[in-house]
Amino acid sequence: MGATGAEAAGVSAGVRERRCDVLIAGAGLVGLALAPALARAGLDVVLADRAVPVVPEPLPDSWDVRVYAISPGSATWLHSIGAWQALPAERIAAIESMRIAGDDGALLNFSAYENGERALAWIVEERALRAALVPLVHAAGVEIAAPCAFDALTWSEDAGHLAREDGTTIAARLVVGADGLRSGVRRSAGIDAPTRPYGQIGVVANFACERAHHGRAHQWFRPDGSILAWLPLPGRRVSMVWSASDALAAELLQHEPAALADRVAAAGRHALGAFDCLTAPAGFPLQFMRPPATVAHRLALVGDAAHGVHPLAGQGVNLGFGDAEALAAVLRQRGPVADAGAPILLERYARRRSEPVLAMQTVTDRLARLFGNPAPWQKAARNLGMAAIERLPLAKRLLAQSALR
Ligand SMILES: Cc1cc2nc3c(=O)[nH]c(=O)nc-3n(C[C@H](O)[C@H](O)[C@H](O)COP(=O)(O)OP(=O)(O)OC[C@H]3O[C@@H](n4cnc5c(N)ncnc54)[C@H](O)[C@@H]3O)c2cc1C
Repeated sequence: MGATGAEAAGVSAGVRERRCDVLIAGAGLVGLALAPALARAGLDVVLADRAVPVVPEPLPDSWDVRVYAISPGSATWLHSIGAWQALPAERIAAIESMRIAGDDGALLNFSAYENGERALAWIVEERALRAALVPLVHAAGVEIAAPCAFDALTWSEDAGHLAREDGTTIAARLVVGADGLRSGVRRSAGIDAPTRPYGQIGVVANFACERAHHGRAHQWFRPDGSILAWLPLPGRRVSMVWSASDALAAELLQHEPAALADRVAAAGRHALGAFDCLTAPAGFPLQFMRPPATVAHRLALVGDAAHGVHPLAGQGVNLGFGDAEALAAVLRQRGPVADAGAPILLERYARRRSEPVLAMQTVTDRLARLFGNPAPWQKAARNLGMAAIERLPLAKRLLAQSALR
């Protein structure tokens, strides 16, 4: 049902208007993955962003400070769109097991083997994902509108209209807001979604470690309420995410590389020996956000525009890929419905995503708040809870399975 040639050329009544089925507003990882999936469903797609999406230069001797734990479920979907197989195998590490320590001695262990999987998740650099996705966008015939801001978005009965600075307009049957946590697209549709700061900054950095990690990820819920994670990178390297109070994060971000490496190695009780910094640290404020709706008239929200989650379970972009997969499936299976922005399709998409997103947001939010509470009885209760789950293989398996998906 792609727009007709004349429409796509789109000169109507003196206004230079590009009509399309879907405008994806935001070319982060979620928008980049969604674009080829929709184009292959026979839709005429425009992908817009403030920056032109480019294939990052390969830098074989350095490691991107932004890495993601990609779940097996996301990996399978990325494979189906042709992205997973385009990733360089030597830049990916499998999390084969995970050890989680409570702040009062409780331990919880997960293993890919016990869950019948090759990996609990795969650690992949952001730039590797971009390098795999951008060529797919071009190959699928998606038109790129960039640089382009989303400030002038208006809505009519049959389209969302984005006015560009050059005087042209993009009119789309469906606008997909893929523009991140502070989504201007969401705001322009009148969806009010206040964020709730966790009072924490996610400090990330990569390190070379003295001892082999054997594919094991570590996570410590620390007595000061911070959460430290080490994720395996290929070779003797790890990526750190330390969700720390603003004050602790400020200290970590100011350390000289050697002091930071010593502090991070010591915080993990030197489980992998001494550390050396591979990258400067970077910090990301952590916020919870749940909008009252993820669809509206001619609008669907995906990725961080649709949900803000704490990164303690490494699920943010995985939820976003889940949104993209669901939206692409709904639009591909639209049957006789010709209009990509038809309410029946948007409702179908919202229904498909509501339960998995709510479940993940609830679990991560409760854990973040539970371990952030300094009351002694809470400390005892959460460690007892962890120890109990460790002794209940079925509960452990259920927890692991939902994260794997
Ligand atoms: C410390 C930390 C660690 C994390 N680790 C993991 C992990 O291990 N696994 C995981 O699954 N997730 C993780 N996440 C979450 C993950 O980073 C996000 O969920 C994901 O990046 C969201 O992608 P997105 O495409 O939805 O949004 P974004 O990446 O925010 O992309 C939004 C895009 O929209 C564009 N844009 C925004 N506004 C405008 C505008 N007005 N005009 C034009 N363009 C605009 C931006 O340029 C950008 O390209 C982590 C997050 C943090 C903070």
